[in-house]
Amino acid sequence: MRVFLTGGAGYIGSHTLLEVLSQDHEVCVYDDFSNSEPEALNRVAKLTNRSFETVEGDVLDRPKMRQALIDFRPDVVVHFAGKKAVGESTEKPLMYYRNNVEGTLSLLEGMEAAGCKRIVFSSSATVYGDPHYLPYDEAHPLAPTNPYGMTKYMVELILKDWCTAQDDNTAVLLRYFNPVGAHESGEIGEDPNDIPNNLMPFVSQVAVGRLEKLRVFGADYETPDGTGVRDYIHVVDLAKAHAAAIGFAGDHKGCEAINVGSGQGSSVLDVVRAFEGASGRNIPYDVVERRAGDIAEFYADPTKAYNLLGWKTECDLADMCGSAWKWQSQNPNGYKPN
Ligand code: NAD
Ligand code: UDP
Repeated sequence: MRVFLTGGAGYIGSHTLLEVLSQDHEVCVYDDFSNSEPEALNRVAKLTNRSFETVEGDVLDRPKMRQALIDFRPDVVVHFAGKKAVGESTEKPLMYYRNNVEGTLSLLEGMEAAGCKRIVFSSSATVYGDPHYLPYDEAHPLAPTNPYGMTKYMVELILKDWCTAQDDNTAVLLRYFNPVGAHESGEIGEDPNDIPNNLMPFVSQVAVGRLEKLRVFGADYETPDGTGVRDYIHVVDLAKAHAAAIGFAGDHKGCEAINVGSGQGSSVLDVVRAFEGASGRNIPYDVVERRAGDIAEFYADPTKAYNLLGWKTECDLADMCGSAWKWQSQNPNGYKPN
């Protein structure tokens, strides 16, 4: 198939690009590099020994977006491009609604002009909000608690209406849990611009000596060891879920929301211990106050992903930490020269 990846140079996009190229699809990446480096694409090209098209552009640039889609004529679009920091979204909500919601409208208009009727969308478990029950299944009520989560929820609603309006349109809404880890080569991985907000990149940077100490946000939750519990998923497993979703979109119609998680919860201290095991380094930490807005624990019911996509996770926490460590230790400054 002809696959168009918005945000294909980013963390999840670059791993999906690698997976999709290894399955012989033809690919075009559309990215403005606002949160990524072109070097990620060079590395994927080397690893796969395959070429693909790249257009540097903003999804909000309607004429450019439309022309790129008309030129490439994709069978399916995978839409990663967007802003993703929960904290920043509470400070700059308009920037988040513009990039994530208006950006998707610009993309869908371009897709209509290019006759493309299939999209796989990067949604998030944040659409569920505070758990009414666990594990979250796809029927759990949707009540995001921050502007970032609201943008994902709004785009889900837009895509649902888009599929209702034209019965040959297809949207697969992949609700990611917590993606971590890196490709086994150690050549591509997560490369946050500033001090990381998320646990795994923070722990990696402590292990490599770039940051001094982890702050554990609360050890008094009602969880087995008192620290927050999440459903971590290896980014390569996540990339494979996208490849499966592209196949699914090829022969199904309508809109489906699908959880992409392992079904297993791990605590902050589980991650610290697993990372120490994988890296052989000590991870010093202090327990501090809870982080505002954090949920004690959540994890996925991934049954629907298996039933519809034939996909389930293959990697465990040790694999996630081992690959994150390989990427971080081989590239202590990310994609910037060492
Ligand atoms: P990322 O920031 O590494 O990748 C996003 C890519 O999109 C970057 O390459 C960036 O340059 C590009 N981009 C951003 N705005 C753009 C615009 N207006 N026009 C063109 N390109 C633009 O993020 P990621 O972790 O790879 O996440 C990908 C998607 O998955 C995002 O939509 C994110 O909200 C969603 N998601 C991520 C997580 C996570 O924990 N990483 C969890 C759930 C959902
Ligand atoms: N966390 C932490 N210290 C950090 C970053 C995160 O203790 O520096 C905790 C956080 O409170 C949560 C878990 O690690 O319980 C995962 O946090 P992350 O931000 O990675 O994911 P999210 O909370 O967005 O699911």
